[in-house]
Amino acid sequence: MNNPTQLNNWSARKSADLYGIDEWSSGYFGVSPQGDVVVRAPTSAGEVNVSLIDIVDGLQQRGLQMPVLLRLENIVDARISILNDSFAQAIEASGYRGQYRGAFPIKVNQQNHVIAEIARFGKRYNHGLEAGSKAELMIALATINNRESVIICNGYKDTEFISLGLQARKLGFKCFFVLETLTELQSVIERSRTLGIEPLIGVRLKLSTKVEGHWSEDSGDRSLFGLNTNELVTVIDTLRAANLLHCFQLLHFHLGSQIPNIRSIRDGVLEACRYYIELVGEGAPLGYLDLGGGLAIDYDGTCSTNGQSRNYSVQEYCTDVVESIQESLDAQGIPHPTIVTESGRATVAHTAVLLFNILDVTHFEPKALPDELPADCHEMIANLWRTLNVISISNLQASYNDIIYYRDKIRDLFNAGGINLRHRVLGENIYWAGLQKIAALLPQLKRIPSELESLPQLLADIYYGNFSVFQSLPDSWAIGQVFPVMPIHRLNEEPTRQAIIADLTCDCDGKLQKFASPEGESTTLALHSIRKDEEYYLGVFLVGAYQETLGDLHNLFGDTNVASVRVNADGSIEFVHELHGDSIADVLTYVEYDPDDLYEQFRQTAEQAVRDGFITLVDRQKMLAAYSEGLRGYTYFEK
Ligand SMILES: *Cc1c(COP(=O)(O)O)cnc(C)c1O
Repeated sequence: MNNPTQLNNWSARKSADLYGIDEWSSGYFGVSPQGDVVVRAPTSAGEVNVSLIDIVDGLQQRGLQMPVLLRLENIVDARISILNDSFAQAIEASGYRGQYRGAFPIKVNQQNHVIAEIARFGKRYNHGLEAGSKAELMIALATINNRESVIICNGYKDTEFISLGLQARKLGFKCFFVLETLTELQSVIERSRTLGIEPLIGVRLKLSTKVEGHWSEDSGDRSLFGLNTNELVTVIDTLRAANLLHCFQLLHFHLGSQIPNIRSIRDGVLEACRYYIELVGEGAPLGYLDLGGGLAIDYDGTCSTNGQSRNYSVQEYCTDVVESIQESLDAQGIPHPTIVTESGRATVAHTAVLLFNILDVTHFEPKALPDELPADCHEMIANLWRTLNVISISNLQASYNDIIYYRDKIRDLFNAGGINLRHRVLGENIYWAGLQKIAALLPQLKRIPSELESLPQLLADIYYGNFSVFQSLPDSWAIGQVFPVMPIHRLNEEPTRQAIIADLTCDCDGKLQKFASPEGESTTLALHSIRKDEEYYLGVFLVGAYQETLGDLHNLFGDTNVASVRVNADGSIEFVHELHGDSIADVLTYVEYDPDDLYEQFRQTAEQAVRDGFITLVDRQKMLAAYSEGLRGYTYFEK
């Protein structure tokens, strides 16, 4: 319920609890006593807190307007360290006799600065890259300059892809072809013979282990990728016949992204180990076991097995993986393989925040009602009025039914010419007042009738945000992904409004109306009343994985401005990269317009208007200048 009376005993701590920031942020974000969201940046001198609103000020002084995608380089480094250190710790603790090699899957965030930072910082850990296409392999070959790091080639590979990967072998890269089909095997053998270069071969297995969550179909018999047992045997026989069985060095599986339950991960590893043992028995050397991705993010902060969460930490994941492999292989006396994982989401999701401002708010509050009904009021309006006045905790459902009934009668009457516009407005206002009154009493009920459950959302404010869901949060639209959203300032004030958030696209799907909360998913978000002449900023968190390249140009809202910042040990903020988002001319060229032609056509129209005497030459100059400036402008709402 929207409750304008503000409690005085609110605190930044209460805001932190309300938005569950400690639950979903993995410690990288928090609320300062001043009421700002701070990034707790890991630096060489320990954790340094910097408030996001200070970063927003810095961005605006540099001409980067909202919306901005903010990348935090310290967190990129921290995530790579956590993954590698956790595996190192698990290996050490269990006496595992093998190593860990990470491979960041480029598809999860292909942006140059992200990959460059992963490669730069990851070098100390020999962190490699995973490529799923020729374009991604080209990125990998130009980025990795370390012969210890692996490059894993997944996806369908044509001969050009295969030739490129073989050349990379000659340069000393540990570049593996993971076979997705048998046809690929023939191409690899043929290209290898022609070029005289031996490949490193891996096989992607189709496991029968099933996982929960959105990506469950990446595993099981009907999964789109990987070889079944028959095909696996064919690979062995074919390689043996070609005298290349010694090149079969890696076994790969990928159960799907965002695996919520650690049990599925362990089941998958155990199943893969069975194949590993059998393949070694068949004479394949192996040496590498690649678990693919799947290490999940706790988007809703519930630490549970629901699809937006996970019931394990990175350390638990690493320990489970290492111990499961060790137990399986020790039982057969088989040497421990190098463990490879292709964790994407877990590496970069925390590293980016979408920041935007609120442009406007729509309320669904009734206008003040008169003390008494006008004497000439229709009977149905009088009935509605009477219903409003008897609403109590004991008759909520019955009152709701009556209110809807009379509201419909009044609308019918209006349509039939039985009441005038003013009386219809009065009827609507009584109707909204009734719903507000019922909604205010709902929390006192032990059980909320299902019909009334959606009332809070029906009455929620609509906050219009300066962003596009389709461009910046495509998974929220496409697969119902929940990202944490909260104001980044004013958190020592109680947020007294309940709202949903609409974007700029004027598309009914362009909105956020599913929010994570400590009590489970909610259909509204608590926000502050906006103040005149003061910006209100929201942040959408954990958006560093998958969102940027999947985003689209719906309504021609283009790429947002992007800023990469690094927090130094002394607390200073370094603006490492500033990228201006698409201009209107840019997005027009994406849909095959030529901005110069558009300008020329507009110029001719203006010229004609001068000849026809509609506008003066001075008007013409101003119009053309505005058009030209518009083409250079940002596609989002500009101040
Ligand atoms: C998408 C993908 C990944 C990345 O998965 P995450 O869950 O983001 O870690 C890794 N490997 C393969 C083969 C993939 O298709």
